[in-house]
Amino acid sequence: EPLLILRNVGKTFSNGVTALADVDLTIRQGDFLSLLGPSGCGKSTVLRLIAGLTTPTSGTLDWRKALGEDCVGFVFQEPTLLPWADVFDNVWLPLRLRGRSRAEAASAVGTLLERVRLTGFEKAMPRELSGGMKMRVSIARALVTKPRLLLMDEPFAALDEITRFRLNDDLLDLWQEQHFTVVFVTHSVFESVFLSSRIAVMAARPGRVFDEIAVETPQPRS
Ligand code: ADP
Ligand code: ADP
Repeated sequence: EPLLILRNVGKTFSNGVTALADVDLTIRQGDFLSLLGPSGCGKSTVLRLIAGLTTPTSGTLDWRKALGEDCVGFVFQEPTLLPWADVFDNVWLPLRLRGRSRAEAASAVGTLLERVRLTGFEKAMPRELSGGMKMRVSIARALVTKPRLLLMDEPFAALDEITRFRLNDDLLDLWQEQHFTVVFVTHSVFESVFLSSRIAVMAARPGRVFDEIAVETPQPRS
C-alpha cells in the first residue's frame, strides 16, 4: 500500500545546481527502501524533501496516508545528541517536547534502550560513548515517538565495518519487530542488499531513479 508517491520531482537550488531531475518513486507502507547511488546524486535531497525540510521546484509529493510531522523520525550520519544531556535524557527529548514527563516516558525509553543494547548506559554522557553507541542512542531517540516513517541519511557511513555490521543487524530486528517504514540513504551496495526490501538505484547526472530492485528479506514478524 503506497504511503508516498513522488512524481516527476525536480529540485534546482537557488545557486542553480540541479540536484534532482524527474524522480519517480513510490514508498510503500512497511518498505525498507534503500536509496543507493554515488555521492552527489541527490539522495539526501530526496530525504529532505520527504521530511519537508525543503520543497521541490517541480513535480509533486503525493501523501497517501495522513502523516503528521510527529510521525517521521530522522537519523543523520552525525549523531546529533545533546552533549550536556545523558543517554536517558537524549532519548526522552522528543517525548519531553510533546509534554511527557520523565516518569511517563520511562517505560518507552527503557524499552528502546534495551532494543539498541544500551541498558545500563542511561546515565552515560555522549562524550563517553563510542561512535556506534552514539548512533544507537540516535536510533532510539528517532523511534521513541513510534514514527510511521524513519528516514536515515547514511547513518553508519562513519563507523568501522564491525560496528556497522552489528548495527545493520539490530536495525533489521527493530524493523521486523516494529513495522515502521524506512527510507535508508546509502552508497554501500552491501548495506542496501543486506537491509532492504527494495532498492532504488539513482544516477548522478541528472539526479534521478533509474532502476528498482526487489530484495528477498525476512518479512516483518506479525
Ligand atoms: P534553497 O534553494 O532550497 O532555498 P539554499 O540555496 O538556501 O536552498 O541552501 C540551503 C542550505 O544548504 C544553506 O544553508 C546552504 O548554505 C546549504 N548548501 C549550499 N550549497 C550546498 C551544497 N552544495 N551541499 C549541501 N548544502 C549546501
Ligand atoms: P547525495 O546525498 O547523493 O550525496 P545531495 O542530495 O546531498 O547528494 O546533493 C545533490 C547535489 O546537490 C550535489 O551536487 C550537492 O552539492 C547539491 N546540493 C545539495 N544541497 C544543496 C543546497 N542546499 N544548495 C545547493 N546545492 C546543493
